[in-house]
Amino acid sequence: MVKSRSRIYPLLSEEQIRLRVRELGTQITSDYAGKDLVVIGLLNGVYPFFADLTRAIDLDLDVNFMRVASYGGGTESTGEVKIIFDVDKSIRGRHALVIEDIVDTGLTLFKVRNLLMDREPASLKIVTLLDKPSRRRVKVPVDYVGFAIEDHFVVGYGLDLEGLHRNLPYVGIYNPA
Ligand code: 5GP
Repeated sequence: MVKSRSRIYPLLSEEQIRLRVRELGTQITSDYAGKDLVVIGLLNGVYPFFADLTRAIDLDLDVNFMRVASYGGGTESTGEVKIIFDVDKSIRGRHALVIEDIVDTGLTLFKVRNLLMDREPASLKIVTLLDKPSRRRVKVPVDYVGFAIEDHFVVGYGLDLEGLHRNLPYVGIYNPA
């Protein structure tokens, strides 16, 4: 497979992302004012969004990560979600906010949400930079969405194709044809 950047067509610019992330940060800051907030980033793809969003949230928050795998390296979901590593502290009685890069079929978040709900947080919400609602296979509540996008395979700003392109500062559509 050719992984050249020439096959990537810009969808969301750095500036669009920056402005939207700031808006999300402002909204989350106001929604969680005075609460004990634990944020849980889903690695690996979330890393730029996580860094930018958490710095746009003007609150004392506790930063945590989980790593789950849902794709076998290609561009289609396998339907399998494997927990590679877990949050290392209790979220019981605390307000948990899961930070995700993209929601596609919803299978990953469905599984992660159930797992975290079993730990009895005071609340559990989800924020995603990107949402592809037309691809959803299971219902999962997504509380904050950066951008709803059409059914394209996208790369950049953390999102990869077989490990590449995560470091692009913008989001682009990968077109193999
Ligand atoms: P879901 O379980 O909702 O189908 O998929 C969630 C995960 O699939 C995301 O965290 C991401 O790793 C991957 N994914 C879904 N859509 C895309 C996409 O368009 N581009 C990339 N690079 N990964 C995607």
